[in-house]
Amino acid sequence: MDERPRFWSETARGLTPYVPGEQPKTGRYVKLNTNENPYPPSPRVLEAIAREVSASLRLYPDPDALLFKTAVADTHGVPVSSVFAGNGSDEVLAHAFCALLKHDRPLLFPDVTYSFYPVYCALYGISFRTVPLTEQFAIRVEDYAVPNGGVIFPNPNAPTGCLLSVDKIDWLARKNGASVLVVDEAYVDFGGESAIPLARRHSNLLVVQTLSKSRSLAGLRVGFAVGHPDLVEALERVRNSFNSYPLDRLAIAGAAAALADQSYFEETRNRIVRSRERLSEGLSSLGFSVLPSAANFLFATHPERSARTLLGELRERGFLVRHFDRPRISGFLRITVGTDEECTSLVETLREILSPEKTERATGGR
Ligand SMILES: *Cc1c(COP(=O)(O)O)cnc(C)c1O
Repeated sequence: MDERPRFWSETARGLTPYVPGEQPKTGRYVKLNTNENPYPPSPRVLEAIAREVSASLRLYPDPDALLFKTAVADTHGVPVSSVFAGNGSDEVLAHAFCALLKHDRPLLFPDVTYSFYPVYCALYGISFRTVPLTEQFAIRVEDYAVPNGGVIFPNPNAPTGCLLSVDKIDWLARKNGASVLVVDEAYVDFGGESAIPLARRHSNLLVVQTLSKSRSLAGLRVGFAVGHPDLVEALERVRNSFNSYPLDRLAIAGAAAALADQSYFEETRNRIVRSRERLSEGLSSLGFSVLPSAANFLFATHPERSARTLLGELRERGFLVRHFDRPRISGFLRITVGTDEECTSLVETLREILSPEKTERATGGR
């Protein structure tokens, strides 16, 4: 018998932790499995971090991360009192589950969504109910306008990439006045409209964003939320009961510099959006069905090949993509949009995997 659990708390025993995508230890792979940005962060970010390194690492950082929160407030035209900052948006979400979404009635989220949500529910003992997406993998907001302890979904949704209009979010926030609606906008910069302007009108709406994807800073761990100051205060209470310094000095300096460099952000974002459309066409030409994506990834299924098999064959050829072995989506691969070169070589590799004879003839045999 396994002896380890002897020392474990009930809590530790009961957990089913989230499993993040693989981070290989060698650079052998084209990494299209965790929705990282293929472009480096703005040079201004690296300068700001270098300045901070030579300044004062001896000292604790600002517990309120005011430099960063002010940058968020300026970028989105909201008061600093409406901004909460955390160590990646995963931490911001964790605090939201604990501070705002734990009530007697169940929390609602889609049946196909970010798989961290049920993990937080288990950690904090939150009851939840999943709400099926439509056949087309769309969120139908009417389904959430029922008594609940809170509502959360990503927009665009993950791992589908499907977008919901802000009008629908506006409608739901109004209908759902008795509990908090959290919109997780990890991918909104790649094709969606943010619900942040709505947070002024709806005191029950919390919008969460991250610098990991559209700002190329997955390694720095910075996320934030915007909402009514009363919601932010609840998050602050949890933060200060857990870790008063979630953002270190380098993160505060680098993240503030990233938000200040709007033109770099727009240029790299637009490049990814263009690459996404090319990649979508390339996959479609190979027979894949590709869901319409407003994110920096595509969700695609092939009528003749299992996603699991394709995942393995791609891996052998040096490409990492993601597969979720879960109901309704086990036939899909989630493919991060890389550079144009990476996308082109992925499509060529898939062409070889799908029809080796044809490719051999076309290239004169090998
Ligand atoms: C990537 C992602 C996050 C977490 O981002 P971090 O800020 O890196 O923690 C949160 N929600 C969704 C839906 C994501 O895909």
